[in-house]
Amino acid sequence: MSIQETWTTLKLLSWTKEYLLSKGVSNARLEAEWLLCAATDLDRVGLYLQYEKPLNETELSKYRSMVTRRARREPLQHILGTQEFYGLEFEVSRDVLIPRHDTESLVEEAMKRCSGANTILDIGTGSGCIAICLKKMLKNAEVTASDISEAALAVAKRNAARHEVEIEYVCGSLFAPVNCRKFDLIISNPPYIPTPDIETLEEEVRDFDPHSALDGGNDGLDIYRKLIPESIEYLNPKGWLMLEIGIGQGSDVVEIFGKTDCFMKFFTAMDPGGIERVVGAQRKEIQ
Ligand code: GLN
Repeated sequence: MSIQETWTTLKLLSWTKEYLLSKGVSNARLEAEWLLCAATDLDRVGLYLQYEKPLNETELSKYRSMVTRRARREPLQHILGTQEFYGLEFEVSRDVLIPRHDTESLVEEAMKRCSGANTILDIGTGSGCIAICLKKMLKNAEVTASDISEAALAVAKRNAARHEVEIEYVCGSLFAPVNCRKFDLIISNPPYIPTPDIETLEEEVRDFDPHSALDGGNDGLDIYRKLIPESIEYLNPKGWLMLEIGIGQGSDVVEIFGKTDCFMKFFTAMDPGGIERVVGAQRKEIQ
């Protein structure tokens, strides 16, 4: 991008598309449009209406710095500061996992199977997306959300304020911050990527999502081996435990549930891409 040229919207978009493609960004044209929208405060229709309009210096320098960041494979969501999930917009930063659309299946299953839950615990809430969506829909439920990271909780709290919901936030590992309490639904999208696979992930994920939100130990199942048996003490009789899982982890996770002998009504559910993404079961009434 040289200073002398007149950079119209149209010219910038085609230049950026080629540039980002050369840096390995696959959705380059659309992403260029989003970045340009952010730099100019226009929406996409606005951009199209002003194809021939040159950008002013302020817009151009804002755009240039955003494109540079994206070319280094920083996720678009970090540059724009938000990600949409379940129809709501969430603030995101390097302190939290960017919410994935696959995780919407977990929220859907919770709504389908236990919309009568009065007490809900979301473990590892990150941006807060799961807890906040559930609270939005189940207005009378008391929702508690935990995370091991104070920085993540700060983001989650801002997201709860943004969506005007009241959620109890607690800091700590797994059940430590809710000792002696019981819930009708415990839900979590825990870290489940096998450690050796992390370096093979695309740069946006590998270099920018918090590793504590991704790394599930050698086979990816470490957290399920702790969370599932420990959850029994924190579930009301007939309370549900619903968990997101990674590709191919369904039967192993169901086995971990089964070994406890404390669960019934097992189910698995797929994400929109047809991948088994959710495993859940109901705590038996009598042990
Ligand atoms: N609960 C958050 C989400 O689903 C964060 C999950 C995590 O950090 N592993 O996006």
